[in-house]
Amino acid sequence: MSFTDLGLAEGIVRAVTEQGYTQPTPIQAQAIPTVLKGGDLLAGAQTGTGKTAGFTLPMLHRLSTGSKPHPNKTSARAIRALVLTPTRELAAQVEENVRAYAKYLPLNSAVIFGGVGINPQIKLLKHGVDILVATPGRLLDHMQQGTVNLDHIEILVLDEADRMLDMGFIRDIRKVLAALPPKRQNLLFSATFSDDIKALADGLLDSPATIEV
Ligand code: AMP
Repeated sequence: MSFTDLGLAEGIVRAVTEQGYTQPTPIQAQAIPTVLKGGDLLAGAQTGTGKTAGFTLPMLHRLSTGSKPHPNKTSARAIRALVLTPTRELAAQVEENVRAYAKYLPLNSAVIFGGVGINPQIKLLKHGVDILVATPGRLLDHMQQGTVNLDHIEILVLDEADRMLDMGFIRDIRKVLAALPPKRQNLLFSATFSDDIKALADGLLDSPATIEV
């Protein structure tokens, strides 16, 4: 089984090959075809399993193929995919991966998290971003200041959802969810499945495929 066999676009396979990956990990082999189909996904996966590429690669494929042309070429591009992570370290790491895998695609990404100045992030967002990786608290700050527009989100990823709940982000997450367009693809990744995670998944996901590695 190769990345090409999974149905990923040539530019994505090329970027992944440059990373030195020769074959998909088990979570990738399961998640990639499922996400490419466009449905919601509930995935049980620990760090180190390759879960980041598991959601990023098919997300990039979907954003780069068969999507509607940008409504207004002169306006800044709209954020089409949002990845929420519990910590700034994970956010930075995920965005670094997104950037590497999108190397040959006309898609750009940005990361926003707390603990650093907000103004450079406002500038980045103004410039136009296709894929935004964020921690919930700082994203909410931007929403409250009106410096981020989430009206065009097509894909939402909750990465390490259990850690986000452990860190007390559930209220922030719910506020973000309420601001997203209702018609979208939702992917939830979690290492563990407490009742709280199940409740979040029940409310968020529409007939999800379930995978566990
Ligand atoms: P993650 O679980 O997403 O944090 O990924 C763990 C590590 O595995 C990262 O350093 C990735 O670069 C690496 N990785 C992801 N997918 C593959 C793959 N298919 N083959 C080899 N390494 C990979």
